[in-house]
Amino acid sequence: MGKNIQNIIFNAAKRHELTKEEIIFLLSCEDFHKDSLFAAADRVREKYLGDAVHLRGLIEFSNYCKCSCRYCGLRCGNKKLKRYRMTIEEIYQTALRAHALGYRTVVLQAGEDQYYDADKIAALVCRLKKLGLAVTLSCGIRSYEEYRLWREAGADRYLLKHETADPKLYKALHPDSSLEERLDCLLQLRRLGYQVGSGCIVGLPGQNLETLASDLLLLKELDVEMAGIGPFIPHPETPLASVPKGSVELTLKMIAVLRLLLPLAHLPATTALATVDHDSRAQALCCGANVVMPNVTPQKYKQLYEIYPEKAGTNVASTQNRRQIIELITALGRKVATDQGHSPKERFQAVS
Ligand code: SAH
Repeated sequence: MGKNIQNIIFNAAKRHELTKEEIIFLLSCEDFHKDSLFAAADRVREKYLGDAVHLRGLIEFSNYCKCSCRYCGLRCGNKKLKRYRMTIEEIYQTALRAHALGYRTVVLQAGEDQYYDADKIAALVCRLKKLGLAVTLSCGIRSYEEYRLWREAGADRYLLKHETADPKLYKALHPDSSLEERLDCLLQLRRLGYQVGSGCIVGLPGQNLETLASDLLLLKELDVEMAGIGPFIPHPETPLASVPKGSVELTLKMIAVLRLLLPLAHLPATTALATVDHDSRAQALCCGANVVMPNVTPQKYKQLYEIYPEKAGTNVASTQNRRQIIELITALGRKVATDQGHSPKERFQAVS
């Protein structure tokens, strides 16, 4: 490699550029170097984004899914899962409660469920915007027209993880779509003026440090406003049931390197991380992350949105979950943001 690892970290923290080779080097670093990487990412986060942690209230409104992603417990082939759909009014009431609890962003996420027609979602977004909430949608691959309708209704952000930047691996894991299609959606969302979120899973079978480096370079190239990175967690009712879970340490390194590459991006300390290791949420907040997405889904549905088993926060009421997360943030010497937490990038424009 020639160059010293400390130099690579130092330069990346200043210039926010890394080669694929350098990323692989950083992802494999250990001990003292790992501590330096995490500390540098933490400083970049502090310099560009300050101490505020943004809380987003996550509403998982349907667990119906027409897809067969090989890692996901919501896959349509999982006949053991009891399916639910929240009514539009239930979603609205849940958002109202989230607002009363103090959330200023709600994230509406679901399996790929065509049941909700685009007009109904658009009307709901309109009502939520009137409450003074920022609205993030995460409803998978939809048509340009649907994305446009929702954006015009006022949706601010859209989350669509690319999952893996390796096209062959993507195809092997997602029989219903291609990486190209997924990326096309992200470009459409960008064109419509959404704040765009993407991200990947760490620990998928067939992945290696090179494909993970490609994930980070793709997020840099897309210049995303948000990126979620979480470890793979095996679900017993999927073809990947016996694959070991992803490494927390490698996931934390991915977050740290991404923070160096994208100083302004909102990066969540993901629920998947907290599920694998309770303490890793705090660790993520100390190596680049600045967002937490507590679950506010009604208690009776929470455990049914089983993308993987034993999701963190599932057995605690939304009020208590929020309280615990605020305690954690405060204990780290950080504060909870009180604004809507839009991307600080100026690119956030009106619908074109
Ligand atoms: N239908 C939406 C939401 C999918 S669920 C969409 O396609 O975007 C939200 C995220 O859960 C996925 O993007 C995926 O990254 C994650 N996920 C699903 N199963 C998982 C598993 N077994 N381990 C870790 N993450 C998983």
